[in-house]
Amino acid sequence: MIKTYPDPILRRPTKRADPGSPETQGAIAALREVFDPETALGLAANQIGHPVRVAIVRLGEETKVLLNPEVVERSEELEVDSEGCLSLPGVEAEVPRPKRVVVRAQDEEGRELHLEAEGLEARLLLHEIDHLDGILYIDHLPAAERREVLRKYGEVRKSSAPVSSSPGQGRSRSPL
Ligand SMILES: [Zn+2]
Repeated sequence: MIKTYPDPILRRPTKRADPGSPETQGAIAALREVFDPETALGLAANQIGHPVRVAIVRLGEETKVLLNPEVVERSEELEVDSEGCLSLPGVEAEVPRPKRVVVRAQDEEGRELHLEAEGLEARLLLHEIDHLDGILYIDHLPAAERREVLRKYGEVRKSSAPVSSSPGQGRSRSPL
């Protein structure tokens, strides 16, 4: 079950993932079960109720589990592109993000990973790392625009009677 805004779990920074711990393994298993690469590009563990620093992302043809991902380099050059989120179903906004990033993380066994990404993949990594820090994409918008997105979100929630967190309803692009 995907937690949706304004669930407070989305606002609490997650805690460091210890690769061998049952807590981390539980989060990984849950992410693998819930994540559908056909309808989304990424998912953070706190979005499904596990407050640990684990995310699952689709990079190219691969689905990767990342433990403790952190940005070690970001380009000054920004790119603006539309962004949606499984935790804010039904809305999206144009969000500026660094165009290129270098991310360090660990894999499921705790081995070091070094990822270089640009464009949509850089955006995806930044979006998921933000989730693990309790940050949502709307936080990057100017106040007036954020209010407008949240107003639309409120309407979507009211109108689509059984508020489902089912991803991808009528969306042009996979949410992050
Ligand atoms: Zn998201």
